[in-house]
Amino acid sequence: MTIQTLQIPPDLPSAAVAYASAGIRVFRVRPDKAPFANCARCRPPTEKRPNPFYIEHRPEECRCTARTCHGFHAATTDVDLVRRWWAEQPDANIGAPCALNGWAVLDIDPRHGGDKSLAVLEERIGVLPGTVMQLTGGGGLHIVFRTPGVSLPGTLGPGLDVKHNGYILLAPSVHSSGGRYRWSGHGRFLQPPVAWPSVLTPRQVRRAA
Ligand SMILES: [Zn+2]
Ligand SMILES: [Zn+2]
Repeated sequence: MTIQTLQIPPDLPSAAVAYASAGIRVFRVRPDKAPFANCARCRPPTEKRPNPFYIEHRPEECRCTARTCHGFHAATTDVDLVRRWWAEQPDANIGAPCALNGWAVLDIDPRHGGDKSLAVLEERIGVLPGTVMQLTGGGGLHIVFRTPGVSLPGTLGPGLDVKHNGYILLAPSVHSSGGRYRWSGHGRFLQPPVAWPSVLTPRQVRRAA
């Protein structure tokens, strides 16, 4: 992966386009982070749940008006589509799926003791290597690594979660507390140059990989 530095524009529509142009898959997240649910036309049938209303289509080409359909599976690098999405909804936050973008993210929430959990972890395994970091608008911190491409635990302690199969919001999204997400280092984003520390990958997964 080539290392790229991106200056992130301060407004959501331009920032979303900047990410997509740089090859980062993004999708819209409603400001209230409402949970995603697919409508009948968008929910692919399964063996257990047949769905006669389903219309076959790719998530990023969805034209239904329910804005929650497909969740992060609709994330795209299609700049024209991203421009259209944010023209329709300029206050939508910018979501980015982690694994699909090649990231594994440590999510530290001090309100739930994440700072203490991180201190305990670093006492045990040593200080984590420096990499790209994002300040969440709510006092938290994202430490972004390159994904190891294996399954990871969802949490490493209270307030210390691993975002891998899920998504994160990207700067300048607005946190529920009203603050904006921002990248540390003068608001620039850099593709994470540092691999996920293998010491944080469960032993049995490491052996199988
Ligand atoms: Zn739908
Ligand atoms: Zn759809």
